[in-house]
Amino acid sequence: MKHPENNEEYKGLTVNEGVAQPSVVNPYLKLKKRPKKRQMSVGEYVEGIVKGDVTILSQAVTLVESVKPEHQVLAQEVIEKCLPYSGYSVRIGISGVPGAGKSTSIDVFGLHVLEEKGGRLAVLAIDPSSERSKGSILGDKTRMEKLSVHPKSFIRPSPSAGSLGGVARKTRETIILCEAAGFDKIFVETVGVGQSETAVHSMVDFFLLIQLAGTGDELQGIKRGIMEMADGIVINKADGNNIEKAKLAAAHYRNALHLFPAAESGWTPKVLTYSGFYNIGVKEIWDMVYEYIDFVKKNGYFDYRRNEQAKYWMYETINEHLRDSFYHNPLITDMLQKKEQEVLNGQATSFSAARKLLDMYFSGMK
Ligand code: GDP
Repeated sequence: MKHPENNEEYKGLTVNEGVAQPSVVNPYLKLKKRPKKRQMSVGEYVEGIVKGDVTILSQAVTLVESVKPEHQVLAQEVIEKCLPYSGYSVRIGISGVPGAGKSTSIDVFGLHVLEEKGGRLAVLAIDPSSERSKGSILGDKTRMEKLSVHPKSFIRPSPSAGSLGGVARKTRETIILCEAAGFDKIFVETVGVGQSETAVHSMVDFFLLIQLAGTGDELQGIKRGIMEMADGIVINKADGNNIEKAKLAAAHYRNALHLFPAAESGWTPKVLTYSGFYNIGVKEIWDMVYEYIDFVKKNGYFDYRRNEQAKYWMYETINEHLRDSFYHNPLITDMLQKKEQEVLNGQATSFSAARKLLDMYFSGMK
C-alpha cells in the first residue's frame, strides 16, 4: 500500500516500504529455560560463611528473613552450625530519633573503628516502622556513603516481616551469622522511638544513645527507661553555634543520670558531645566504648550480660511460637471474634473468655 506521506503534498520526503520481520532472528538458537537456582545445602552455607564469603552470608541472611517454613528449618540449622564460630565480637546498639544523625554518625563511627581497631564491621538494623511502611528507613546502604563501599563492611537493612519481636529475633540471628563470617564489630541501629530500644538492648554489649541539644528541656522528651538502658549518651551536632547548647544539654543529662540507681554493670554512663558531620569528638566516643568493654570484661559483666541475653531470647522465642501457634489455630481463629463480642456485650468477662479460649486450645492439642 502506498504510504500516505508519499503523497504529493509532502514534498522532499519519501517513506520506504518496510520489510517483513523474520519470525526468528536465529532459527538455530534453542531457547533454553533458565535453570532454577539450586537451593544450597546447610553445609554449603556454613562453609561459605565461615570462609567469610559475603555473598553467601547475604543469601543466608535472606534465608533467615524468609517466612517460608522450609527456609526457616534450613536457616535454623545454618545458625546452629555457625554458633560455635560466633560470639567473638563487640556488639554496639546505636539509637536516636529520626534526624539525630544516626546514618551520618555510623558512617563516621564505622570508618573510625575500622581504622583504629582493624577487623570487619557489620551494620544491622531493627526498624519497627518497616512493618507498616513496607520499607525500611534504617540500614539503607545509600545512607552510609563511605561505609557502604568499604571492603571491610557489611550493611544490611532491617528485616521487614513480622512483629517487632520477630524482626528483632532475625537481627539477633543475623548477628550470629555475621560473627561466624568474621565480622568482629557489630552495630545494631534503631530508631529511638517505642519498644525497639529494648529489643536492641537485649542483644548488644554497649548501648549508645544519640541525642540532640534542644530547647533546654530536652529531658522531657526521653523516656526514663531508655536513658536507664544507655551505657553512653552522646549529644550530636556540637558544631557551629550549637556547641554551647550541646554542652549545656550534656550537663543536663549528667545531672539526670545521677538520679538513677547505679547500673548493674558497675559502669557510670558517660555523656559526651560530638559532631558526626565534622568528625569532632568521635575518637572520644570510641575510647569510651572500648573503655567500657575492657571494664566489663574484667569484672565479668560482659559474659554475664551475654548469658542473660541468651536466656532472654530463649524465652522470647518460646513466647513467640506459643503466640503464633495459638492465634493461627483454626479452632481459635473461629472463636476469637465471637468471644471478643461476648466480652464487649458484657456476656462474658475478659478472664472467662480468655480461659475458655485457652481451654479450647489446650484440649485441641491433646
Ligand atoms: P538519622 O535520621 O538519625 O539517620 O539522621 P541523618 O544522619 O540522616 O542526619 C539528619 C540531618 O542532620 C542531615 O541533614 C545531616 O546532614 C544532619 N547532621 C548529621 N550530623 C550532623 C552534625 O554532626 N552536625 C550538623 N550540623 N548536622 C548534622
